[in-house]
Amino acid sequence: MGPPGAGKGTQAKRLVDQFGMRHLSSGDILRAEKASGSELGKQLAAYMNAGQLVPDETVVGVMAKALTSGGDKAGLLLDGFPRTVPQAESLDAQLQKAGKPLDAVAVMTCDDNLIVDRITGRRSCPKCGRVYHVRSLPSKKEGICDDCGAALVQRDDDNEAVVRKRLDAYNRQTEPVIGYYRGRKGLKIVEVNGAEAADKVTAQLVAALNAAGAKR
Ligand code: AMP
Repeated sequence: MGPPGAGKGTQAKRLVDQFGMRHLSSGDILRAEKASGSELGKQLAAYMNAGQLVPDETVVGVMAKALTSGGDKAGLLLDGFPRTVPQAESLDAQLQKAGKPLDAVAVMTCDDNLIVDRITGRRSCPKCGRVYHVRSLPSKKEGICDDCGAALVQRDDDNEAVVRKRLDAYNRQTEPVIGYYRGRKGLKIVEVNGAEAADKVTAQLVAALNAAGAKR
């Protein structure tokens, strides 16, 4: 969990590489539906492009399907979901039914000004998902992915006005989810400073997952 731009996606990719769990990013799943041009995708675009959360009912339906759609021997890493207390309640119910409770919650913090800088400079590869930053992590050739040569894109919602709205949604709707999990017996909560260097953040998350008993 963490505000937009705290580094959730970057760290999720690294953890999946190390631990082999399945990465489920609600943002990626919703963007794929949006890009498909379906009727649902058009409805999603209206919320996403405005920096608002997609209604709980819709997200819960989409994520419930994704949660059950793969072999999860090495576990699951949820990125961007749940983002509201009702979503967390519904996830609990689904995980309880499956007999697979949450092991750990990682909370990434980050200062608002750094978030705006990170997000407005963020570019990503539509083909492989690799993420760049125009100043702090540029591709070798401007606008082209180093790995697959595709033209890099900027997300529709990665501009300052929309980022401020996404931050507001995070503070109002998502932060209470941390309180919902805090103090739960057997659930490890690890807090990391997302403003620190990515390698340092990864090391802290890896140590926490190891302590929580995750298998490589
Ligand atoms: P992200 O890629 O996680 O920053 O998500 C991009 C956008 O997708 C968000 O600003 C929301 O509009 C939507 N979204 C992603 N995950 C959720 C969620 N769990 N609940 C509601 N909306 C979501």
